[in-house]
Amino acid sequence: MRIKKFRCISCGGPKVNAYTTPYIMCDFCGAFTDIDFSVGIDTWNENVGTTVNYQFRKMELMQKSQTALVRGDRQKYYEFQREFWDFYYRSFPAYLPPTIDTPEKYGLYLEVCAVSSVESGFDPKWQQYGAYQQQLQNAVLYIRIGGQTKAEAASFFALAEFFIRITREGMKTFYEDPRYAIMHELLPEAVHFKMKASMFVQAWLPYLTDQDADRFLKMTGFSNEYEEVERPDGNAVECGSCKAGIFAPEGSYRVFCERCRKTTQVKKQFFCMSCGSPNEVPENPGKPIDCTRCGIANRLIRPLFGS
Ligand SMILES: [Zn+2]
Ligand SMILES: [Zn+2]
Ligand SMILES: [Zn+2]
Repeated sequence: MRIKKFRCISCGGPKVNAYTTPYIMCDFCGAFTDIDFSVGIDTWNENVGTTVNYQFRKMELMQKSQTALVRGDRQKYYEFQREFWDFYYRSFPAYLPPTIDTPEKYGLYLEVCAVSSVESGFDPKWQQYGAYQQQLQNAVLYIRIGGQTKAEAASFFALAEFFIRITREGMKTFYEDPRYAIMHELLPEAVHFKMKASMFVQAWLPYLTDQDADRFLKMTGFSNEYEEVERPDGNAVECGSCKAGIFAPEGSYRVFCERCRKTTQVKKQFFCMSCGSPNEVPENPGKPIDCTRCGIANRLIRPLFGS
């Protein structure tokens, strides 16, 4: 079968099951591992009314935030940011990371989004970055190609490259901050970066030629490659939450249910490769796990894929 090429950032496993949201959940370890940009675009374009309404409200909330910023009112700024993120995920529920699957986690996640927005909003360095980004955005030239208005490549990529650079810098600081430690579990840094990159390019996509859109997607590491793979052997398992049938490929420890967006454990136990003792499969089977008896680190999944 011909499928889009994804390799899990946690265990190295390929994506084999079909998916319905932009988020790629590993079929071997259950980790949140990547984003399919084209599915994200389909979601964005699914309902024009929702998208237009979202863009309108976003502009409103960003203006209100800006006013609060000028007044030095952190509390109001925080409230508008929190409202914005809540509105964003309510408008596009498919964009909510599937790892955020309880009201508690959702609340925590919104809190992190809002608090970190306040911090960067009030940080002089980020204000400068923001002003410079705005300057680059205003400097984008528009040209007519085949009756359509498109952004001229050089001026667009000056903006895109700056955006990528500051986004990576911001991500690094954010993920090093112990207050946001929970985010490593909820939304791995590599995936979070792609989420920001897709939000950025989505707005620009109508103004990009196919060639420029491709170039941006390559720069930000989105997969546009397909590969031919043999359908792996495996078994049907029952989703632990909604009881739907899910295909679990041979070697899988945790698999994602597209119907209820929760993961289900496929195997509960493994035997240590060194001493043979039975061990419990951990919550995240994609990472090396020390044997409780002899202490040797076991890799449950990656050896299957040879790297
Ligand atoms: Zn995996
Ligand atoms: Zn389910
Ligand atoms: Zn052992």
